[in-house]
Amino acid sequence: MRYLILGSGPAGIAAAKAARKQDTDAEVVIATEEHAAPYLRPMLPDLVSGERELAGIGDPQGKDLADLKIKLLGGKRGRRVDAAKNRVAFSDGSEETYNFLCVATGGRPILPLALMGAPGSFLFLNSLGDAQRVRERGMRSDTTVVYGPGYLGIEAARAMRKLGNQVIWINPGLPRFGNPISGEAEAQVTDQLRARGVKVHEGTEIADVIDVDGKNFEVVTAGGAKVRCHLIVVATERLPNIGFLEGSGVKAGAGVLVDEYLRTNVSNIYAAGDCAEVFDINRRESRINFGWRSAMKQGQLAGENMAGGGKVFIRNAEDYFGLLYGTPLLERAGA
Ligand SMILES: Cc1cc2nc3c(=O)[nH]c(=O)nc-3n(C[C@H](O)[C@H](O)[C@H](O)COP(=O)(O)OP(=O)(O)OC[C@H]3O[C@@H](n4cnc5c(N)ncnc54)[C@H](O)[C@@H]3O)c2cc1C
Repeated sequence: MRYLILGSGPAGIAAAKAARKQDTDAEVVIATEEHAAPYLRPMLPDLVSGERELAGIGDPQGKDLADLKIKLLGGKRGRRVDAAKNRVAFSDGSEETYNFLCVATGGRPILPLALMGAPGSFLFLNSLGDAQRVRERGMRSDTTVVYGPGYLGIEAARAMRKLGNQVIWINPGLPRFGNPISGEAEAQVTDQLRARGVKVHEGTEIADVIDVDGKNFEVVTAGGAKVRCHLIVVATERLPNIGFLEGSGVKAGAGVLVDEYLRTNVSNIYAAGDCAEVFDINRRESRINFGWRSAMKQGQLAGENMAGGGKVFIRNAEDYFGLLYGTPLLERAGA
């Protein structure tokens, strides 16, 4: 039996480990586009701010993969899934076969249209490479605009301020997918950021970005405000990475559609984590349950079920996005 898992985030690693535990003789392979060893994505803002070093953000879940005889193939971006032939083609030209496939490819931030005209002005804050780029450029910048709603916007603004930048946070409002850090808590954290010197433009969008001289950029908000900066950090909510499933026959909405067993409409293909739109048997609806803890839980279940577990996913609101590591958000913003 060969289990192939796409993605080395918490969902992918948990799926691989659970499949291994259920099926000790099987071949278990994780193929991921990342070259880096598995890391804690929630710690990336701390890497940007300098509160943590690279060595301090390794994902402990990913440390014993070799001991468990789980093969980790890096630099492999899934390009196409041939569900009839149980085969995945990668962008480096290679292919991997499977008996069971688990899609755990997470998400990517949304790029606001207005930024497309000024490609040198912005960096994302989503992957390890992004965080390293943001830190390097942030150290050479005086003023940064952070664009993004909710938790990710807050964390990016906090990290850039801690790095010593003047920070203008453009907060477009409620994240498209909802986010429990809202209302009173978000207002408190925003006040803390203001007290640390972050300027906040709430409920507005970036309407345009003018590249002044390749180093300075003018951000124009929908409300007509103009902000000069050296860098824009895009910390928007993540949309599922599932484009490569097109033509595979695997059904998708916003994410890969899976039933309560985390199984897609193709019986030997499962999906878990931020890329999966999971059927909630209690609410009788499908939804994406963004967040680290939820991704781990789903990955584990998908791994078990691929190996015959037959367990049902029950959504628990506490598994949904929440601060997992380090000090509470309010203390972080005020520190
Ligand atoms: C800055 C930041 C801070 C965050 N802080 C928190 C927090 O405090 N608490 C919390 O609960 N959540 C937090 N999150 C969200 C959390 O990181 C995600 O919910 C979680 O990582 C989802 O896990 P996943 O395994 O589904 O996907 P991911 O962690 O996104 O992993 C997916 C993996 O698949 C790889 N991949 C993508 N496409 C392909 C492909 N085609 N082929 C092969 N590999 C592919 C990616 O490179 C990645 O390694 C944060 C996110 C960010 C960006």
